[in-house]
Amino acid sequence: MRPLIAGNWKMNGLGSEGIRLARAVCEGLGQGYTHVDVLLCPPFTLIERVARAVAGSAVAVGGQDCHPKTSGAHTGDVSAPMLKDAGATWVILGHSERRADHGETNALVRAKAEAALAAGLTPIVCVGETLAERDAGRAEAVVEAQLAGSLPEGFAAAQGVVAYEPVWAIGTGRTPSEADIGAMHAAIRARLAARFGAGGQGVRILYGGSVKAANAKPILAVPEVGGALVGGASLHAEEFLAIVAAAPVALA
Ligand code: PEP
Repeated sequence: MRPLIAGNWKMNGLGSEGIRLARAVCEGLGQGYTHVDVLLCPPFTLIERVARAVAGSAVAVGGQDCHPKTSGAHTGDVSAPMLKDAGATWVILGHSERRADHGETNALVRAKAEAALAAGLTPIVCVGETLAERDAGRAEAVVEAQLAGSLPEGFAAAQGVVAYEPVWAIGTGRTPSEADIGAMHAAIRARLAARFGAGGQGVRILYGGSVKAANAKPILAVPEVGGALVGGASLHAEEFLAIVAAAPVALA
């Protein structure tokens, strides 16, 4: 399995700065990181331009959300085929900011993941507990319920990706211990194997939450960590490239 390092730009980036960032990532990668899959997820408005800027490089482009329907009267929404049409091949779904800001349920995330698969996009489905849930000893139960409710049937066969992102670690500078990351990733792997059999072993499980150049290497070396979903640090080419450089050559 190849590690995946994905940058989630969130609601950041106007035209010229986004293109500059995408180009700097491509140039920094050069020919040197053929063992890592690298993905940039800009806001909708930049997908087409970033896709053009990275064309011919090893960098892929993804969306940050999609609607479960392919088209229709859904003002302000964007469908999976529209993302694909703009040049995306991936899409992040069920990010905790969408679950919190837009009331996204597991059932809705699952419907979006089905739409993504139908459009030929690879979904990255995010799961993760709040601090109150962790403090109450419910972290694994919460994540297992999110997995059960959010992942559609064809997920493993289509090589969908799960991102474990503890809500309390996102954008806070706080990260769980490596032991806690390892325990949660092992629990996620067990759920994936129980549900999808052998296919579940091939699903990459990313860690996300305050990953930066300074902490990437030990986090990416934790067993069952198949890469990183990077928010804030992905807005700085050098920082993001250093995280890519910290990815192991092959996953255990
Ligand atoms: C994210 O939002 O997916 C994320 C991991 O953010 P940050 O790296 O900024 O914590």
